[in-house]
Amino acid sequence: MARRQTKNRTGIPRIEGIPVHDAWVTFACVKCNTRNFIHIGRELIATDDAFETGEWVCEACGFIHSRETDLPFDSWPRDICDSKRVAAGRFWRAFFRSATEGPESYWKQCNTCGRILPFNDFSRHQGWGPLERQMECRACKAAINAKLNPKRTRQQLHEASVRRRIADLLVEGENERIDESDLFQRFDSKCFKTGRTLKRTQRSTWAIDHILPSKYLYPLTVANAALLSREANENKRDRWPSEFYTNSELQRLANITGANLSLLSRPKPIINSKIDVDACVERFLKVREQSNLHKRIVQLKQLLGNYRLVNRLSTENRKLLGF
Ligand SMILES: [Zn+2]
Ligand SMILES: [Zn+2]
Repeated sequence: MARRQTKNRTGIPRIEGIPVHDAWVTFACVKCNTRNFIHIGRELIATDDAFETGEWVCEACGFIHSRETDLPFDSWPRDICDSKRVAAGRFWRAFFRSATEGPESYWKQCNTCGRILPFNDFSRHQGWGPLERQMECRACKAAINAKLNPKRTRQQLHEASVRRRIADLLVEGENERIDESDLFQRFDSKCFKTGRTLKRTQRSTWAIDHILPSKYLYPLTVANAALLSREANENKRDRWPSEFYTNSELQRLANITGANLSLLSRPKPIINSKIDVDACVERFLKVREQSNLHKRIVQLKQLLGNYRLVNRLSTENRKLLGF
């Protein structure tokens, strides 16, 4: 199976010449305990063959691992170590079996870091050689993935979720109740993005899109609500409408909801200029929440600062918050 030549966008080089499907057998020398590796290739060994015919030589001490060899354990009774006796025979059979029993007994070479590692150090890749494992180890894969899709750090995610929660709390008092049957009627019971028909009774399959996101302090109102399938809404998330909907969709959306088309079409998000910041802050301070007030005020101040809303606060509230 030839692998398509893919352009490496990560800058993490692959090691040339490592066969990506090949299996390795490894064993710890019973005499000197050195770990040895035997390149097997794409045909795994039958366990019985390994026992019957295997002669695995330790590269460090030359000890031959085979059913014909006496066991080298000085502290064991002589008759157990004798290769002609049952106990030694059983020892060798199990020795070869544990190295060859199934795909998961084998090892594989990572073509990125070059290490030969156990089966479990590679993620699954269906139909990929006898082991069906990926060509790079999990550790290298993690580095490659980080280059391909830089994820936001925990800290960034935490900050984003705090900001979102605070924004939600700020506009909460201005949200309108959305009449579901009315919403379905306006959107003809279809996902506005995909056109898929939705059933109102199957609540887990649809969602109300907060068209102008609460993140930017827009409350949920009838004019700011669209009907979406659950998946479409997950794709939309906190995005500004023009970053998710096409121009003609925005036009239709404005027709259906009566929202302001030029606002929806703005290329970049803008903070809601109509929001009554003082009323929001006063409501926010009254909300009982588990987390402590001091911390929440610090977070609120950060958000008001980032959104440049501080000068829209009354002098009194500015003082109250310690600006
Ligand atoms: Zn050895
Ligand atoms: Zn690796």
